[in-house]
Amino acid sequence: MAFVPFAKTIFKNLVSKPATRLYPVTARKPFDRTRGHIEIDIQQCIFCGLCDRKCPTHAITVTKADKGWSIERMRCIQCNSCVEVCPKKCLNMDQQYTRPAPGKVVDTFHA
Ligand code: SF4
Ligand code: SF4
Repeated sequence: MAFVPFAKTIFKNLVSKPATRLYPVTARKPFDRTRGHIEIDIQQCIFCGLCDRKCPTHAITVTKADKGWSIERMRCIQCNSCVEVCPKKCLNMDQQYTRPAPGKVVDTFHA
């Protein structure tokens, strides 16, 4: 009878834990290679602008005159190009994602 396997599934679901998490209260641990957001050690930056030129989405803006480096978070596609091209290795891909926001998120750093 088809009801028996169906009843088994219902009983199993009643006694098992949910497959989902109560995000954002319970967040999933990121995988080792998760690409979350770009971080910069601004003290190491020489403002060469390579990351700015290599970024495919124009998320990064480097202003040598005032020693500024900024990133528009929602434009970034986490391709990692800027990290690979930086001659000073001062960029890093962090595993935490940028938090959702209703507008543009621009982070600016100055040396
Ligand atoms: S490539 Fe590196 S050193 Fe050059 S501007 Fe970007 S972050 Fe700074
Ligand atoms: S990870 Fe890619 S898209 Fe994001 S800032 Fe770097 S180069 Fe641009």
